[in-house]
Amino acid sequence: MGCCDAPGLMPLEEALEKMLAGIKPIQSTLQLPLAEAIGFVLAEDILSPINVPPFDNSAMDGYAVRINELAQNQPLPVAGKSFAGQPFEGEWSPMTCVRIMTGAQVPQGCDAVIMQEQATITEDGVVFCQTQVKPNCNIRPVGDDIHQGDIVLTKGARLTARDIPMIATLGVSHLTVFRKPKIAFFSTGDELKPLGTQLKAGEIYDSNRYGIKPLIINFGCEPIDLGIIPDCPKTLKETFEKAQSLADVVVTSGGVSVGEADFTKDILDEVGQIGFWKLAIKPGKPFAFGSLGDAWFCGLPGNPVSAVLTMYVLVQPMIAKLAGHTQWKAPESIPAITRTAFKKVPGRTDYQRGIYSIENGQFVVETTGNQSSGAFRSMSLANCFVVLERERGSIEVGETVSIQLFNSTLY
Ligand code: AMP
Ligand code: MG
Repeated sequence: MGCCDAPGLMPLEEALEKMLAGIKPIQSTLQLPLAEAIGFVLAEDILSPINVPPFDNSAMDGYAVRINELAQNQPLPVAGKSFAGQPFEGEWSPMTCVRIMTGAQVPQGCDAVIMQEQATITEDGVVFCQTQVKPNCNIRPVGDDIHQGDIVLTKGARLTARDIPMIATLGVSHLTVFRKPKIAFFSTGDELKPLGTQLKAGEIYDSNRYGIKPLIINFGCEPIDLGIIPDCPKTLKETFEKAQSLADVVVTSGGVSVGEADFTKDILDEVGQIGFWKLAIKPGKPFAFGSLGDAWFCGLPGNPVSAVLTMYVLVQPMIAKLAGHTQWKAPESIPAITRTAFKKVPGRTDYQRGIYSIENGQFVVETTGNQSSGAFRSMSLANCFVVLERERGSIEVGETVSIQLFNSTLY
């Protein structure tokens, strides 16, 4: 069997291409204090205004010396001190050394620092175990890390916990970043109840908003939670219109399939435009994409695994483009040997949930068990997706499959 066994279903790659094709990155920018800029996308290159370190400084607690004097193998009296933030300022007379601490500016003329563990203080001065050292030993020269004018980060980078301290070392206090995309989201379904309430017959808790919101935040967007909307066309339509007026992207969950209470697609057809609907992926088949006025629309399937999975696989790349995050990379595929069997029928690309580990340098993967799209334990236990190609059938133990380790948005 091949993908013609799933007629009318669009392959994932084609869907992604279509989604990305229309997206124009947000252009509006704002100025932010550095400490508030984490998760935002840079709208400018960051050039270093200074050398880092800004002066030659000691990498050790010890003694600043002149190599030619050290080589004379005589005790060197201490002429003074250089501490971090309090450089030695006196005259440095010949045949003396300067007590120096880590990070302190080395005195003019110093060409080595000897660590204190290799020095003994005597009445005649400091005696060193080693008298032959290489020039600049234990000195961190000016600009050793970064030169003034170096490009440290480029426009389109999303600021991480590693970037913020990097920029702080340059003394840059404010950054120009792109505005975060706003994403309005809501759950649809008469059976859905908010947490903290008692369930009546046939009701379940609305878990999808709790799956969608953290992803929106982790994608670097601003979430707008519009709650639970019943399967009522009028209310749904009003909520679609409200959502579109508030956000760059509207994300719904549920009601996007072919059931009698599935209104999402028809309403999208009425108040917006359908780009495509129904993909050759499992889970996540009924995913719908389109536009609602100036906003983009993503209709996630209601099953909790499908909702999170389609957010991750389809919505994430689109948001990256919208946010101007040009350095975003799709998770890489890694070959892994199966340690359990994986059930599959040909026709759709499966994103099964797996647990990978590394054995003797080789990735191996096992299933998380029940792969029903309603069984969220399979996501919660997993640390990777096992991506099984469309034409593939069931997988035996010992076969090679492609896995995609979860990126930081799922942590
Ligand atoms: P639907 O896509 O509306 O047909 O829903 C498919 C399945 O997902 C049904 O079993 C729903 O009860 C369930 N479901 C829909 N929305 C949610 C939600 N927000 N939280 C948890 N389960 C949901
Ligand atoms: Mg429903």
